[in-house]
Amino acid sequence: MFHATFGAPDLTTFCNLDKLGLTVTGQHIDARGAVLECRVVDADDSCRACGGRGRPLGTVTRRLAHEPFGGGPPTLVLVLVLVRRYRCTLCARFWLQDTSAAARPRAKVSRDGLAWALRALVVDHRSISRIAAGLAVAWNTANDAVLTEGHRRLINDPTRFDGVAVLGVDEHVWRHTRHGDEYVTVFIDLTPVRDGTGPARLLDMVPGRSKQVFKAWLAERPPPWADGIEVVAMDGFTGFKTATTEELPQAVAVMDPFHVVRLAGDALDQCRRRIQQQLLGHRGRAGDPPYTSRRTLHTGIALLTDRPRMRLERLFAGDDHVEVEATWGVYQHMITAYRHVDRAAGRRDLEHLINSLHTGIPTALVELHRLGRTLNTRALLETGGFRPQLHPQNAKSR
Ligand SMILES: [Zn+2]
Repeated sequence: MFHATFGAPDLTTFCNLDKLGLTVTGQHIDARGAVLECRVVDADDSCRACGGRGRPLGTVTRRLAHEPFGGGPPTLVLVLVLVRRYRCTLCARFWLQDTSAAARPRAKVSRDGLAWALRALVVDHRSISRIAAGLAVAWNTANDAVLTEGHRRLINDPTRFDGVAVLGVDEHVWRHTRHGDEYVTVFIDLTPVRDGTGPARLLDMVPGRSKQVFKAWLAERPPPWADGIEVVAMDGFTGFKTATTEELPQAVAVMDPFHVVRLAGDALDQCRRRIQQQLLGHRGRAGDPPYTSRRTLHTGIALLTDRPRMRLERLFAGDDHVEVEATWGVYQHMITAYRHVDRAAGRRDLEHLINSLHTGIPTALVELHRLGRTLNTRALLETGGFRPQLHPQNAKSR
């Protein structure tokens, strides 16, 4: 039984707004999210110039995007701060109540909103577009906010490179332009994740995505630092693997679970497209059964409602899509293993699955074959427990 003493419901503390020096005075909640009307707790009514009392002259409203709720479609939280305007009774100066605890001057995102955005980018691998959607701000606003906050934290922490033993290196598409995608390479300290002492820490963000970017970044670190790196966790970009082998020969290259699942999802998409071409002779379009089910295929089976579940059953009913079904089965098995409540059991399951991809797959299933080869030549870094290498003989192909 859950025993607790209940107090009155309190949106201020629930949304962490007390820590930002605000108190909620009104709410408007609809399907998209919540708009919270707030006031500043500290009256801030003494004149900055002469110390005289300020006379309130009404309020101005400051809009701040705040940290959203929920991991699925996020529930947006917009904070409207009613900021008092004062006039000094002695020297006639004007001022506004100080809101710097809630957000930096002219910022459109609260301090908690910024922390959420940075975490979403670094830890959850969300794109700037999805972060912008989560905060309900424009792409440029989210982009500027994340860059500014990222760099501010980096500059404020000169000791951030100390004690890094597990280094994460990851490419993000930063911006889609007419000339192609722009990339940024993000460096993360995963040592606290391995040691179970805390979350991943952002180390650096560097424009570009290449072996050279990684090598140049490593070259800027003093030599003893590089010697301390035991593991480099990365995504599927092979340039990072080559740079690791060349520059950090003592380190083991591993692949993080986000990218393992993404590779399995890619294999599923490729298989679906191949079968579509074979059966219908054209690319998928509305009305083609496999194309219509492309999102359902990526949804965890346990999360499917009746209608998409029946659509999948119809798709897999005949023999036409048997290869899609096999690839889908492996993808589902993989995400189930990662979500296993018993992490050790999930890990054994995953290991078994990856081994089976190495040996027992019919050659017709070309996507699963390729997936098996990729996964078996890399080791895995998992979310909870940590395994430096799955196949030691292959982990370092030097
Ligand atoms: Zn004054």
